[in-house]
Formats: sequence, structure tokens, C-alpha cells
Amino acid sequence: MSEMRRVTAIRNGTVVDHIPSGRAMQVIRLLRIDTDRSTPVSLVMNVPSDKIGRKDVLKIEDRELSHKELDRLALIAPSASIAIIRNHAVAEKMMVELADDLVNIARCSFSNCITINDREPLPQRMRVVNRDPLEIRCYYCGRGQDIEELIEKIL
Ligand SMILES: [Zn+2]
Repeated sequence: MSEMRRVTAIRNGTVVDHIPSGRAMQVIRLLRIDTDRSTPVSLVMNVPSDKIGRKDVLKIEDRELSHKELDRLALIAPSASIAIIRNHAVAEKMMVELADDLVNIARCSFSNCITINDREPLPQRMRVVNRDPLEIRCYYCGRGQDIEELIEKIL
């Protein structure tokens, strides 16, 4: 088995492809992959991609992503493609899709927003007003979110 093959082949798990270059670590955090534990994770960074210029690719063994995780992943990697691997073969392919309305995906990053007030429990709601470049506004206070900050506030 060649060195390359050893890195890329997994028996069961998930391949997340077309992550924007440099964002793979955010994906690892989002998926709460405990890097101290025994979950084998392969990370390839900054490889050329026809689709998005440069990309990161993440392979996670023995883990299949849920739809809930995919909805969150869309904030970090809106054009990611997902392959579920079972017994060395691609069993399922999924595309990440960023919805127009993001309900309970991330918390508004403005501290004086009504949604931050715990006595007034409201669902977290964001509206995607533009996709390229990505522009997201809070449904309640109407303010535009800094995407990097929003990623840190994913629920
Ligand atoms: Zn707000």
C-alpha cells in the first residue's frame, strides 16, 4: 500500500470535500471531533480545486454526519460535498445546502440583541440575504453578522 493510499482510504466514515481552504479546523471544531480521542481523522489542506480554487478535505473514520451537522457545516463550507463511506465504497453522497432562513443554527453576535436575553427565549433566527459574498442578517435586530464571528457562535 502506498503512503498516499494509506492516508486517503477509509473503510467506514465520512469524507468532507470542497471545504474552503484553511477552514478544515473550524469543521473539526464544529463536529466536536475530540482530537485527543482515538477517532482517526485525515486532513488535507490547500489542494487545488477546479470548483473553489483551493480546498481542504477531511476524512473522519467511523463517523457519519447527521443532517443537523450538515446544516451547520453549510455556514463554514457552503459548497462542501459529503460522501458517506461504508465498507470502502461510497454509500451515500450529500451536498451541503445553506437555507435562506437559519433557525437555531447560530447565535446573533450582537450582545444587545433581544435573542441574548435569557428571560425572553426566542429561537435564534438568521436570514441569508446574499450568498456570494455571504451576507447574513439577524432576523430580530436586522444587523449584518461577521461570518467569522458567527461561525464561532454556531449552536
Ligand atoms: Zn440580533
